[in-house]
Amino acid sequence: ACLDRIAEVDGSVHAFLHVDAEGALAQAEASDARRAAGETRGPLDGIPVAVKDVLATEGLPTTCGSRILEGWVPPYDATVVTRLREAGLPILGKTNMDEFAMGSSTEHSAYGPTRNPWDLDRIPGGSGGGSAAAVAAFEAPLAVGTDTGGSIRQPGAVTGTVGVKPTYGGVSRYGLVALANSLDQAGPVTRTVLDSALLHEVIGGHDPRDSTSIDQPLPALVEAARAGASGDLTGLRVGVVTELGGEGYQPGVLARFTEALDLLVEAGAEVVEVSCPTFVHALATYYLILPAEASSNLAKFDAMRYGLRTWPEGVESPSAEEVMRATRDAGFGDEVKRRIILGTYALSSGYYDAYYGQAQKVRTLISRDFAAAFEKADVLVSPTAPTTAFRLGEKLDDPIAMYLNDLATIPANLAGVPGISVPSGLADEDGLPAGFQVLAPALADDRLYRVGAALE
Ligand code: GLN
Repeated sequence: ACLDRIAEVDGSVHAFLHVDAEGALAQAEASDARRAAGETRGPLDGIPVAVKDVLATEGLPTTCGSRILEGWVPPYDATVVTRLREAGLPILGKTNMDEFAMGSSTEHSAYGPTRNPWDLDRIPGGSGGGSAAAVAAFEAPLAVGTDTGGSIRQPGAVTGTVGVKPTYGGVSRYGLVALANSLDQAGPVTRTVLDSALLHEVIGGHDPRDSTSIDQPLPALVEAARAGASGDLTGLRVGVVTELGGEGYQPGVLARFTEALDLLVEAGAEVVEVSCPTFVHALATYYLILPAEASSNLAKFDAMRYGLRTWPEGVESPSAEEVMRATRDAGFGDEVKRRIILGTYALSSGYYDAYYGQAQKVRTLISRDFAAAFEKADVLVSPTAPTTAFRLGEKLDDPIAMYLNDLATIPANLAGVPGISVPSGLADEDGLPAGFQVLAPALADDRLYRVGAALE
């Protein structure tokens, strides 16, 4: 059914970069056989999943939305993918994304944009717009995304789906092509909160292949979702973050936020106002730390090891430097080049202390604001994104306007804390979905599911 649906709508939505019909069918048949023999591998055995094209998949192309990796087929699976396979989930294919996960609209994909199923003239969010659109368009019941500054939660918000960024270190980064190692985290994109909890339990947990993976059992996520669905949040303290709302937020998004808050109060939660003054510096901090890490990570695309290799026309025997220069020029898009330049500048000697060093200090202050806020509240809440889905092309020539979309999602990545976006309804102005974000302390991912499920 999913493959039929993909054939029917993906020509206009373009959520997928690669569909593995044959592989998915074979895995589905194997699952049916297990079921018939009474040997099922768990609740998601046989349920198809779409995977963002930034996760390595053995035998399937992995491009990260970039020309520089066109045609590259990894010889191994990311741990997340291994766990999907082991739990019996057929992999439908690889989903579209902004090149190397840089962006908030999926317009920076080298293979053309994904469109929002709610309105094909609008963006599906980014960078994981493909995963969110696939779920919203009923092409896949489940998808995996990655969130470095909001790329799971913001696409979730603007497509009316559920998106979860787990605690940093809670899901293995092995085989996830790094954008910014200290921020990246893979997580679920689904239509319900319970589905996200089920998928999170499949992909999460310790992995010795990732040095930043946390060696602790996951909290009981499915149980928390079930508890939340009962609608009782008695005693829960919900902190509304002053700095993540108000000015710059669309009125219809704020109206749905306030309504959702009222639902939590009806369920017995207590609402407190908390201030996190350093959050206003989160965007600036992120856009120093992220390009710094990204510029270093992307140095490995040197035309020698992976994907594309080209050299200046008419040169008989080009030097290694000429090959690298021509390949990187042809293989990377504008946004990637912009961030490589910014990151290289921020890391260069003489500027390191003023930019990168300073950003790391502010990052610590942001973590302290979180710690103080979590003394007063069990979870923090805000709208996920300041606006509903904007039109394709609207922000493409204005990087700062594009970056501003991540205002509310970025603090969580800087501090490593988990977050969820759940649909909060449609904004009055445009009838498009808005998202409600819940943040919890590190390792308390279960709270996201408890609160999220209470809102459904
Ligand atoms: N939109 C943010 C950026 O452009 C977030 C990206 C992400 O989470 N991968 O960096």
